[in-house]
Order: sequence, then C-alpha cells, then structure tokens
Amino acid sequence: MSTLFTQIIDGDIPADIVYRDDQVIAFKDINPAAPTHLLIVPVKEIPTVNDIAEADEALVGHMFTVAAKLAKESGIAEDGYRLIINCNRDGGQEVFHLHLHLMGGRPMGPMVVRQ
Ligand code: 5GP
Repeated sequence: MSTLFTQIIDGDIPADIVYRDDQVIAFKDINPAAPTHLLIVPVKEIPTVNDIAEADEALVGHMFTVAAKLAKESGIAEDGYRLIINCNRDGGQEVFHLHLHLMGGRPMGPMVVRQ
C-alpha cells in the first residue's frame, strides 16, 4: 500500500506541485499554517527520520537544498522561515512518509509551546 504522498507523486491524488525532480517533490500543504507552507518529500518512501539510512544522506541533504531554493523563489529567504520534520507520536507526525515542512511569510513565533 503506497503512502498518501506517493499517491500524490504518482498523480493519483491532486496537489499543487511547485517542484519536482527525480529525487524529491514539493507541493503546497493542504492545510497551511503560514502564508508559505510547502512540503518537500523524497520520492523514496522513508517512513520517519528514524528510518533514514546512511545511504540516504545525500537525499536528505538534497531536501534541504531544494527547501532553500523554494524559500528563495517564494520570496521568504531574506526575512526567514522555519523548516520542520515531525517524527512519530510525540513529534506530531501524521503522514508516515518523510517530509520537510517549509513555512514562512510571517514571523513563525516560538519554536514550541512551552508547558
Ligand atoms: P505531519 O504532521 O505528518 O508532519 O504533516 C503532514 C502534513 O500533510 C500536514 O501539514 C497536512 O496538512 C498535510 N497533508 C495531509 N494530507 C494532505 C493532502 O492530501 N494533500 C496535501 N497537499 N497535504 C496534506
């Protein structure tokens, strides 16, 4: 069973795709938490950060260079932005296909809610 994001990559579920190459895809989050909210997703189905292998290091680095490029193209690079990867239950992960959130276009506030 392919993941939700693989279904987007395969074109089975529509999404507002802003970038794709042979390693990653980026599309707008369906429920944006900021004026710019993109998800950068590897084509390879890696469920969580816990599943990243040494062989994936170049791929994960590529996710970040794509994020920086998209931040620049979105006009938020100079003011700044936030990159987030949630992992498992306590991290608040909902989709178990690795993805990097790129969020900006407003001050993003405190990093986490302090309890
Ligand atoms: P997570 O909580 O796993 O880090 O983030 C999952 C993100 O995927 C959420 O921000 C959620 O809004 C987004 N999302 C869930 N389903 C869809 C969908 O079908 N299309 C798009 N574009 N984003 C989705």
